[in-house]
Amino acid sequence: MKKKILMTRRLHDFAMKELQKRYQVVVHDGKIPMPKKLLLQKIADVDGLVCFPYDVIDGEVIESARNLTVISTYSVGYDHIDLQAARRRKIRIGYTPSVLTDATADLTVALILDVMRRVTEGDRLIRAGRWSVIFGPHDYVGSDLHGKTLGIFGIGRIGQAVARRAAPFGMNVIYHSRTRLSKKIEIQLGVKYVGFGELIRDSDILSIHVPYRSDTHEIIDKKVFRMMKRGAFLINTARGKIVNEVDLVRALKSKTIAGAALDVFGSEPIGRDHPLTKMENVVLAPHIGSSSEETRRKMAEITLDNLVLGLGGKKMVYSVDV
Ligand code: NAP
Repeated sequence: MKKKILMTRRLHDFAMKELQKRYQVVVHDGKIPMPKKLLLQKIADVDGLVCFPYDVIDGEVIESARNLTVISTYSVGYDHIDLQAARRRKIRIGYTPSVLTDATADLTVALILDVMRRVTEGDRLIRAGRWSVIFGPHDYVGSDLHGKTLGIFGIGRIGQAVARRAAPFGMNVIYHSRTRLSKKIEIQLGVKYVGFGELIRDSDILSIHVPYRSDTHEIIDKKVFRMMKRGAFLINTARGKIVNEVDLVRALKSKTIAGAALDVFGSEPIGRDHPLTKMENVVLAPHIGSSSEETRRKMAEITLDNLVLGLGGKKMVYSVDV
């Protein structure tokens, strides 16, 4: 008998075909994210799960999945999955690191350029019919990137890819991470290791690339904003809950920091009434870090391979060490 899998959303056609050939596939085509009640009901008898970062796969969901042996998430982040519960049940977890590193680093640079050179703000101005005069020398000015200090918080795959992109812009790059890089890699990347406090105090642009876990929960809060330079920008393409959003809104309103560019939020999606949508010095992206045609296809390939290998009792392409 074919194994049964649940997909909380459809993947690319090539992946769907392959999965449908191998398994009995239950696809959720309704509201995203799949409502919890429905998830609990549908997951009860499946062997495998394909999920996305917005699906909360908590202890209750895992406990209700009697036959589940493999979770394959279409993401590098796995903070939406209860790892302890998975460990207890010996459920293996596949994820998609590396293939999305460049796309996410590209978006990070796009956000830095956008917020510092006020591109989206200018776009809004034109669309609102408010570009009525040619700007004078002091009107509508942004900030140069060259000569600025980019502070990278978390120098893993994406953090390093951002550092590589910063050099051609003439930026000075400092970083703080749990584990310090080797001297050789620091020299190759042209980055300098600093303590957390120094990173916060010295960065003109603070870019977050740590994973979301209990030790990074709202680590960027009012204390941090007060330590930052008044002209500094915060960039977040990691996870929303790493930043205390209420404190961020206050810091932006009071001009404690100059601006922010965000791809991720405490709770997604955010609506048009969210306070961040009311601010000119903020660039908002709808969680599109990995969202390029090429990258999304590669992610689908790995998500598929991880599931197939995992259900076949083989080593996955990338698995989370639970
Ligand atoms: P990674 O290679 O695991 O890098 C994470 C880095 O953060 C590692 O160097 C890690 O240090 C460091 N770190 C972990 N906890 C820390 C702490 N408490 N303090 C300081 N440093 C800490 O992960 P990645 O592939 O670069 O991805 C980073 C995150 O980006 C993901 O977890 C995901 O949430 C997010 N992401 C978002 C999007 C998007 O669409 N916006 C796309 C892709 C990824 P160690 O080496 O010591 O563990």
